[in-house]
Amino acid sequence: MANSTAKTVVVVGAGMGGLSAAIRLAAAGLSVTLVEAQATPGGKMRAVPSDAGPIDAGPTVLTLRHVFDALFAAAGERLEDHLTLIPQPILARHWWPDGSQLDLFTDPRQSAAAIEAMAGPQSALEFLRFNALSAELYQAFETPVMLADRPRIGGILAKVLRRPALWRTLGPRQTLARQLAQSFTDPRLRQLFGRYATYVGGAPDRSPAVLALIWQAEAQGVWAVQGGMHALAQALSRLADRLGVVQLYGTKVERIVQKAGRVAQVALSDGRALPCDAVVFNGDPAALAQGLLGGDMVRALPRAAVHPRSLSAWVWSFAAHPKGADLIHHNVFFGADPALEFGPIAKGQMPQDATLYVCAQDRALGPAMGLERFEIILNAPAKTTLSPQEVSECRAKTFPPLAKFGLTFTPDPPDTALMTPQGFSTRFPASQGALYGRSPHGALASFQRPPARTRLAGVYLAGGGAHPGAGVPMAALSGKHAAEAILNDLTLA
Ligand SMILES: Cc1cc2nc3c(=O)[nH]c(=O)nc-3n(C[C@H](O)[C@H](O)[C@H](O)COP(=O)(O)OP(=O)(O)OC[C@H]3O[C@@H](n4cnc5c(N)ncnc54)[C@H](O)[C@@H]3O)c2cc1C
Repeated sequence: MANSTAKTVVVVGAGMGGLSAAIRLAAAGLSVTLVEAQATPGGKMRAVPSDAGPIDAGPTVLTLRHVFDALFAAAGERLEDHLTLIPQPILARHWWPDGSQLDLFTDPRQSAAAIEAMAGPQSALEFLRFNALSAELYQAFETPVMLADRPRIGGILAKVLRRPALWRTLGPRQTLARQLAQSFTDPRLRQLFGRYATYVGGAPDRSPAVLALIWQAEAQGVWAVQGGMHALAQALSRLADRLGVVQLYGTKVERIVQKAGRVAQVALSDGRALPCDAVVFNGDPAALAQGLLGGDMVRALPRAAVHPRSLSAWVWSFAAHPKGADLIHHNVFFGADPALEFGPIAKGQMPQDATLYVCAQDRALGPAMGLERFEIILNAPAKTTLSPQEVSECRAKTFPPLAKFGLTFTPDPPDTALMTPQGFSTRFPASQGALYGRSPHGALASFQRPPARTRLAGVYLAGGGAHPGAGVPMAALSGKHAAEAILNDLTLA
């Protein structure tokens, strides 16, 4: 809890990175005010109302539980006293147009057995080799990248030099798609593991092969949150409250103001000004570079830290009675050819043949009955405009293909159930609809993503657009990095 002489920090945005930073700073004794433009905490982790209860409309797959255990522990609390997390026995169920189906598990031997049943013993062997490679990548990058305040080349080299198996994977021209073509003979498995690039807003043929480590984050376990993912944001907001964080919802930060070369105050949409020693910006970092937070902030970041943009998505969130397919919590219905998905996306167009991720939220505890809640996600290019025919085009690319897999919904979801890339661009200023900050494309992408410290004294970043990148656990880690940087810098000031 803060004392009256405590340094004052304003956190702009109650997304995962902002909540995480606010909790850690308040737990360290600083005086923290969290200002959020929306009416509720969570940012992209939001829910929409329905007759079946709140439907998750953002992230659905919770991985790396230990990141959240550590966040509660930093506040002197235990996660399980605030939230119920349900481990999922099957990570995801995958379906292909040729009728094949595959479940993946945390135990690689169980996954290998399922792969053998679908694609034969050679594929099972290939999977075990790929899984080992992905685990090595994860171990090599965890400390010098994810847990470090910025990617530490020396640390990466030290780890990688001891693992010759990784050298080829880390070559500058080795894309994830190329790596998977070398790892798997079965195109379905290339398509499946290539999809992990989209978790951070990339296409497999343009993202570096190191993104193969994302599979490993999922292989460590997937949890459902009782009450839905947004219950995690609410629990973190309550935790912040207990620590004395002042939380202002429905209030926008209009400007961050510098005086004498360091941050001095933020100006709010309600006309107030909050003096502060430091600011954590949890919005898209592109908003600073674009001047949306005032002219003082334009120099905060180099352009390469926010451009080019990552992918966006079309997201349906609705309640309906499903029929036909044996859904579990996480389901992926693949298109026939990834080139028909990522080719058009690279040209800024809607996929010709989309992969459809279906979250059946009410199946976290097993089969469900009656009216159920669903979120369906299609990958999309980031864009700020919406042409009139796109909603019906998206509908045509979602529900008839699912019907071909045997999955139908009654009633038909209304057009209002669809969130578009343009909708995201409005909701997250300067994002251009990109959901994961800077694009992960290119060998150096993770070195170009901005770290917590900006070029401006007292201005810090937290969130999926900052190091170590997108995804709920990574955004939570970015909040840790921001809090540590502030505690370090304010102590030295
Ligand atoms: C559809 C979808 C599915 C996803 N699926 C997954 C998944 O399954 N698993 C996973 O781990 N990740 C997933 N992600 C990614 C994950 O949701 C994000 O990486 C993470 O939640 C981003 O958190 P953040 O800290 O960047 O904050 P954000 O969620 O971006 O929130 C930032 C907040 O800042 C506020 N803000 C911005 N500017 C201002 C201002 N000037 N004044 C006041 N407030 C401001 C915004 O209103 C917003 O609430 C998904 C994302 C989406 C959209």
